[in-house]
Amino acid sequence: MSRAIVGRVASEGLAFGPTVALTIAEVPDDLPTDAEFADVARATATRLEELARRLRDEERTEEADVLEAYAMMATDPALAKDVAARTLEGVPLVAAIRAAIAGVAAAFAAMDDEYFRQRADDVGGVGRELVATVADTGQGLLTFPDGAIICAVDLTPADTVRIDLERVGGLATERGGPTSHTAIVARSAGIPALVGVTGLLAALEGDVDGDVDGDVDGDVDGDVEGRVVLLDAERGEFVIDPDVATLRDADLRMGVAKELVVLQRKYHGHRTTFDGERILVAANAGGTNDVSTAAAAAADGIGLLRSEFLFLERTSPPTLEEQTAAYREAVAAFDDPTVVRTLDIGGDKDVAYLELAVEENPFLGVRGLRLCLEHPELFDVQLDALLAAGDADGLAGRLKVMLPMVSSLGDLAAGAARLEERAVLAGVAPPPLGVMIETPAAALLAPHFARRVAFFSIGTNDLVQYVTAADRTNGALGGHQDPSNPAVLQLIDRTCRAADAAGIETAVCGEAASDPVTAAVMLGLGVRELSVAASRIDRVRWLIDQLDPRRVRKVARLALELPDADAVRELVSPLLP
Ligand code: PEP
Ligand code: MG
Repeated sequence: MSRAIVGRVASEGLAFGPTVALTIAEVPDDLPTDAEFADVARATATRLEELARRLRDEERTEEADVLEAYAMMATDPALAKDVAARTLEGVPLVAAIRAAIAGVAAAFAAMDDEYFRQRADDVGGVGRELVATVADTGQGLLTFPDGAIICAVDLTPADTVRIDLERVGGLATERGGPTSHTAIVARSAGIPALVGVTGLLAALEGDVDGDVDGDVDGDVDGDVEGRVVLLDAERGEFVIDPDVATLRDADLRMGVAKELVVLQRKYHGHRTTFDGERILVAANAGGTNDVSTAAAAAADGIGLLRSEFLFLERTSPPTLEEQTAAYREAVAAFDDPTVVRTLDIGGDKDVAYLELAVEENPFLGVRGLRLCLEHPELFDVQLDALLAAGDADGLAGRLKVMLPMVSSLGDLAAGAARLEERAVLAGVAPPPLGVMIETPAAALLAPHFARRVAFFSIGTNDLVQYVTAADRTNGALGGHQDPSNPAVLQLIDRTCRAADAAGIETAVCGEAASDPVTAAVMLGLGVRELSVAASRIDRVRWLIDQLDPRRVRKVARLALELPDADAVRELVSPLLP
């Protein structure tokens, strides 16, 4: 009988195929061994570094970075000391490794922010690698049939490198959120994926009598094929034993999706207009290879470079030279502007070496610009790097700088003054400075901000969470997080009107920029740039091209008066292709 389990969409799409479940090998705590921890750690690090090198050759830089961080964690002297203390007390090596790793993971798991909680899974991954080395297992590629749906509690980078992603049909994990490794890998590889599928492995075992089994931590070949399942990463459902009607419906949707991809592909590099005005369809970038992916997707520049990726997964801040090189590379890749957002740490993103104070409500705390103003030593280096990148030969005028989490004119003034001071010291002209409109205060005060900045970029992800008082990382509040909520749209309207009156432009760089209903309304309200994931650029250009600007403008104004997001979706959907 067909059975659906709900999950969160990490990467859109549909897939059906046999499941391969990755389960963790049972290495006993008291596994007899003569191995020394120092040798185990070295061998583990060497293996992980080799995998990282392979990934780099395949230009999977982001995963390579994480594996290198794993290798470093495996050889961390503090970990070695902890394991040694335990083995001296007579604890067997595997048990000692697990206990020491559990201590580190628990410290991460107890942290307030989602990002760090998810890193606890990475620490667990390092532990599994170490144990696999002791047990002499864990190497080799996973074998599975083409188009298989890989199911696991979680997938660490060490797991995913053993999977030939080009042959995978879909990914489903019990754990993980939108910033988890599985989600990042799936999105960049364009594989449909669901995360947070509670009870996934137990359900599979129950339904197929333990038929599905695999093993990534132990002997990884010969994984057994499971039953065919439907991974519906459009509706957020993992359907075991789908019935004929479900499959027929999925088949129809997959057929339509394929035809659409072919159709939308024609919009690659298309110059997009709405009512005769150019609309930039730019890319969001937040990882080392995102810039080249965006260039390959023929993006109209970068609408949001999340500079924090340069600061994460390391033990000290990036140097002036490293930052300058990264910004320069992004700016040089496009004729259209690259908008670099200054460091947006805090909220759900933390940086261990900054030793930030623990806050009760980090999303309402010292994050974004507030944090940069409190850490001038960090901010100044970033501003200097931006000034150097913007001033490079041949790149003049292509860099824009944007401040995140701005909620007061005072904060903007302080940020702007800092940029100007650094520019005077460097003897160069400062690049155009904009603000993100992602707090209700910024939207409500937009007429004041508009007179002081060069552009606006609306961060709908945060704007929605602050307007609806619904934590963006809390899956249980998903129903509250719809950007087509008229309360949000009214603020977007106010922002666009203020920008228009001051003669500056409004972009949108939150996820809503690629949500067809909200994107259409926002264009109707006057937004002139949509910055989206590189994989969505063709789709968004196609959407804009299909819209009737006159009707969209009219409907956008009506949408502002409606009571809720459902009513907006009902009103706008008929205008969409
Ligand atoms: C946003 O808040 O919409 C945004 C684009 O920024 P981030 O998702 O990085 O907070
Ligand atoms: Mg934001």
